[in-house]
Amino acid sequence: MAPAEDWVNRWAGEVWTESQRRQSGSTPTVASGISPSGPVHLGNLRELMTPHLVGDEVRRQGRPCRHILSWDDYDRFRRVPGGFPPEFAEYIGRPLTAVPDPCGEHASWAEHFKEPLRDSLNLLGVRVVEISQTQMYTSGAYTQQIITAMRRRADIAAVLAKYRTKRGAEADDEDVVDRHAAYYPFKPYCAVDGRDTTAVTAFNDETTEISYTCDCGARIGPVPISEVAGKLVWKVDWPMRWAYEHVTLEPAGVDHSSPGSSYTVGGELVTEIFGGEMPLHFGYAFVGTSGGSSKMSSSAGGAKTPSDALEIFEAPLLRWLYARRRPEQSITLAFDQEVGRVYDEWDALTRKVLDGKADPGAATIYARAAGTADGLLPVTPRPLPFRTLASVVDITAGDESQILRIVKDITAEDTIATLDEIRPRLDCAEAWVAEYLPEEDRTQVRREPDSARLATLSEAEHHALKLLVENMASNWTLDSLTTLLYGIPKLQRGLPVSAPPTDELKVAQRTWFILLYQLLIGKDTGPRLPTLLLAVGQDRIRSLLGAVSSAV
Ligand SMILES: [Zn+2]
Ligand SMILES: [Zn+2]
Repeated sequence: MAPAEDWVNRWAGEVWTESQRRQSGSTPTVASGISPSGPVHLGNLRELMTPHLVGDEVRRQGRPCRHILSWDDYDRFRRVPGGFPPEFAEYIGRPLTAVPDPCGEHASWAEHFKEPLRDSLNLLGVRVVEISQTQMYTSGAYTQQIITAMRRRADIAAVLAKYRTKRGAEADDEDVVDRHAAYYPFKPYCAVDGRDTTAVTAFNDETTEISYTCDCGARIGPVPISEVAGKLVWKVDWPMRWAYEHVTLEPAGVDHSSPGSSYTVGGELVTEIFGGEMPLHFGYAFVGTSGGSSKMSSSAGGAKTPSDALEIFEAPLLRWLYARRRPEQSITLAFDQEVGRVYDEWDALTRKVLDGKADPGAATIYARAAGTADGLLPVTPRPLPFRTLASVVDITAGDESQILRIVKDITAEDTIATLDEIRPRLDCAEAWVAEYLPEEDRTQVRREPDSARLATLSEAEHHALKLLVENMASNWTLDSLTTLLYGIPKLQRGLPVSAPPTDELKVAQRTWFILLYQLLIGKDTGPRLPTLLLAVGQDRIRSLLGAVSSAV
């Protein structure tokens, strides 16, 4: 039983009740809208995950639910995003599907950005019905709605004007209503140059013929509006689609719900003009990445995408990072050293759930992350700690035969047979080391012993190294090496290995570990020492600490 404050469960109930109130026996529709104008980033993923979680909950309860992804690919190309050739400015004003593909492998600019998101959604188990607005508009699906909006333009203008004085932060020049000029909620794409730098000059309510001019000098019309490329302006387009698709729920970024926003205006237009009902809705907060800005914007270059995140996070874990926050809570996704901690948290929760010890709320959220109404998502069969894998990858510079050797040592009690048992987590660790581990944190095992340092070893240091070299072979597992490493300073003081730590011992252990790091990798810190020892291997350890066993 989900706890009362569970927002997913609550909204799933409301979605079902509302859909049945509107039309008994109907399938509810939850909606997401994405503009493929540039890379679809992790903030946009919340636009998909939020309705997905609710819709999936409806389906888990044994009821149907449709999740639509409306691609705003008939929107105008507004600006060339950072990192793309400035020559693309030539296409500004044309629909995103009429802008060439920047890489040459896709049908259009829009398709170039849709494909990676589609791949990510598949990995995440987010099933959507894709709706291309280009396809809808150019096929004439909305012709009747466009004609209605044009005939009712005065009413629409009145609604827009009413909210204009109360507008919030949202700036949207296309719907600014000039009281002294005729207002048209439809924007043609010019028949000559394909741009939307057009102005409607006349519309005949009887014949539905439209005339327009364009900055390029074209003067078109009167022609039937059904034959004219173009789209409704955003604040009219959105409510038109709510009605057309019978949308039951459409959450949006918190900035959409300010007074005078497209939500408020749309809420009036959907009923008054299109005879539909406003969807249930709520706002969700921003998604940021650690180390970066807490608010991502599509126009900011370099924002991380779902594919970037899925390179380093297993899909269920990425779902969990979204599912565990309530909509009003912002989300920060770590790409730095925090990644290891996040994996540890996830692994700990997984163990608790498997042992039946997780609290009900956490277990419910876990279930939403681990799978969907369609079933469980694939997992790494043997989920070794991410930090351990990252260290192994780092130390071995990704050499797979070495990785296998070390991982076999790490799993001595129940040895893994192939690296496939630790995938995809191993791939995630490899990607993380390659892309996010700073150069200065990388580990380079010494090629040659540090003879200068070895020559100045104190007697106690020498003795400690000797204890390690003599005892490591019989303690060659992660746990035993850990005990041995912490135990050596105790043994040197005549204490048993099991002696409780004291402040003095802690200092001695710290000094001892620094000596080992120095001799093995030439730094004061590094990966956990037991992992490092397993990675370096006994022969090389002897050679790097080598002189000790024979010298004294
Ligand atoms: Zn492309
Ligand atoms: Zn033109």
